[in-house]
Amino acid sequence: MSKVATQSEESMGAKVVAGLILQGAKKVVGASEDYLKKAIKEKGAGEKLAFPETAFYLPLANALLGFETRTLADGEKIVATSKTLLANELSSDNFLKEALNAGVATILSGELLLALKYMYGEEPQEGAPGFLSDTLLRSLGIQLVDGRISGIAVILGKAPDAKTAVDIVRDLQKRSILTLIGDNVGGVSIIDQLKEGGLQMGLDSYVVPFGRDTASVIYVLNFAIRAALTFGGIKAGNTKASVDYVRERVPAFVLLLGGVDEIKAAAGGGALAAGVPIITDLDLPEIKVPGVCAHEECLVKEMDHKKIVQRAIEARGIKVKVTKVPIPVPFSAAFEGERVRKENMYVQFGGKYSTAFEYLKMKKMDEIEDGKINLVGSDIDSMQEGSSAPLGIVIEVAGRKMAADFEPILERQIHKFLNYAMGVFHMGQRDMNWIRISKDAKKAGFKIKHFGDILVAKLHDEYGAIVDKVQVTIYTNQKDIDRILPEARNAFEARDKRLEGMTDESVDTFYSCTLCQSFAPDHVCVVSPERLGLCGAYSWLDAKAAHEITPTGGNQPIKKGAVEDTGKGVWKGVNEFVKDSSHQKVERVTIYSMMDSPMTSCGCFECIVAVVPEANGVMVVNREYAGETPVGMKFTTLASSVGGGAQTPGFLGVGRLYITSRKFISAEGGLKRVVWMPKELKEALGERLKKRALELGVPDLLERIADETVATDAGALVEYLQKVNHPALSMDPLM
Ligand code: SF4
Repeated sequence: MSKVATQSEESMGAKVVAGLILQGAKKVVGASEDYLKKAIKEKGAGEKLAFPETAFYLPLANALLGFETRTLADGEKIVATSKTLLANELSSDNFLKEALNAGVATILSGELLLALKYMYGEEPQEGAPGFLSDTLLRSLGIQLVDGRISGIAVILGKAPDAKTAVDIVRDLQKRSILTLIGDNVGGVSIIDQLKEGGLQMGLDSYVVPFGRDTASVIYVLNFAIRAALTFGGIKAGNTKASVDYVRERVPAFVLLLGGVDEIKAAAGGGALAAGVPIITDLDLPEIKVPGVCAHEECLVKEMDHKKIVQRAIEARGIKVKVTKVPIPVPFSAAFEGERVRKENMYVQFGGKYSTAFEYLKMKKMDEIEDGKINLVGSDIDSMQEGSSAPLGIVIEVAGRKMAADFEPILERQIHKFLNYAMGVFHMGQRDMNWIRISKDAKKAGFKIKHFGDILVAKLHDEYGAIVDKVQVTIYTNQKDIDRILPEARNAFEARDKRLEGMTDESVDTFYSCTLCQSFAPDHVCVVSPERLGLCGAYSWLDAKAAHEITPTGGNQPIKKGAVEDTGKGVWKGVNEFVKDSSHQKVERVTIYSMMDSPMTSCGCFECIVAVVPEANGVMVVNREYAGETPVGMKFTTLASSVGGGAQTPGFLGVGRLYITSRKFISAEGGLKRVVWMPKELKEALGERLKKRALELGVPDLLERIADETVATDAGALVEYLQKVNHPALSMDPLM
């Protein structure tokens, strides 16, 4: 019979853990103070101190204390504050609170220590990304809100062996949980175990190493806390709101494996203080405190490695949706970005190697048979290893609520769905796709027919509200592919023409998107045919389809109602909707202006448009561009003042494609106002921009728009604009 711990034994055990946290915290604060003194002695108190690519200084100190740490002298404030959080000894009745305070001291001082190591070039460590940038946070934001990432696991330490390590991480991947791994026990890190087990790591596979020592877990914590500042609109220094945000909105937990020492305990104390529960395979006393973590469970014990992931998601309250797809390889969003390299490829289709296409079309209900999968031609068994073969995938769907408008939306999902299968790689779309099946997948029994199983299962699963029947025919012989391809190409062309013809005037209903309210509670995207959501993921048609699929979800129809201002894009119905959905925070919104009541920005915008007063124009910067801009701020700094669900006249978060819309800031003169954008963005949108420029009567506008190769400050920019006679210089004053 197993022994049940009494309350006093539990309390004693908890006090032992608390003692470990305090001891570790004292060591971390001491180490940080010593390193800071050394740095000040060697470099001077005015030396700059910063992490790369963030607008939040040292983010934990910024979020929790409101400090803007810029120099070594500023670091002294962090050490001083950390010291005030350390009790000399634990009291008997308040020891848990004292341990949590020690945890906070650990993460504040630990963060300072890492920043100092950056200054000395000791960070990032080899094979680990080090500080996780604001850009990464923004790009993950959309995956968290749309459910592709269901949670975040942080693994500290090591598993008993490489196989167990791989099994645990595979279990997390199958549940679409982003896993950040690091730390070590006795010099062995789970990073090495996963390498030994042959597991592919990287953001694409949802498995990201953060470092081999315990301190690097701070990168994860200061990443999580930045979500509060970036998406939650929470002001720096509002400790309670920041911690509440992480506890309630960031679905993270720590798996502590293989051993604990005082430093690890102290870092764990910091995680608990930030509202992140810990699940461990160690024989430690469980700690339950209401109000600290998402549920009352703070430190949870699960010594069976087969059950530890399930136990963790229960303790954190993560909802995981696993779709059963009848294929012989694991299937989840975590495999979406996995590559199949040439050495591990069994067979490939399309790309530059063979003819391939994928085409989805609507049929009448009685024309197709649900679940029928037909392979015309040979399957993988009769294909040679390393070969290329032709492939045509034709999906026919029928449904009472299905509409021809939804065809391209469903067709676009083929990319995502096929990539979810481990060992399958998919790129491109339509008649420009490229698919590979790995040797491992072939060995596991994967057949070409399984593409059909995936598509039938996932289209029913995610689009069941509009799709009643799905039939898939897969061709692997050239003759049939050549026969069907012209029909598919005609359909692609017709769709493009129809989409191009859609305008805001041609519809009486726009759609909302409030998916990001899980992060930015007052933000509302108004999605119109000529203005897509600012994350770039939701066009008007996407939002319309999403509404059909989930009528009570985040995409609701907005009846435009009476026009109040045609030029700025103001409608009575839109204002009423936005006021209601923003919890009365936003009273008026213009769809075509960035100066007067612009739309709010959440945080996962693809680009920022900002006024450049000296040029009487605007610049656009995409989040991938890390350099300086003519407004004197990098993307990360700009983004910190634009996001959080606020309206910020003069600044606008937008989706990339909106820049090429006829309605792009049309109230301010549209594309002709753009005076600067990064070269990469210019090139990516090149053809579309040229087309718009031609329509505007300035065919060489693209060449007149400056980029970083010409200017990164306002002075040089204006000089260039004058030289090329940019139209913005002679437009009405912007301000
Ligand atoms: S459309 Fe707007 S609210 Fe919806 S996911 Fe994208 S950014 Fe968020």
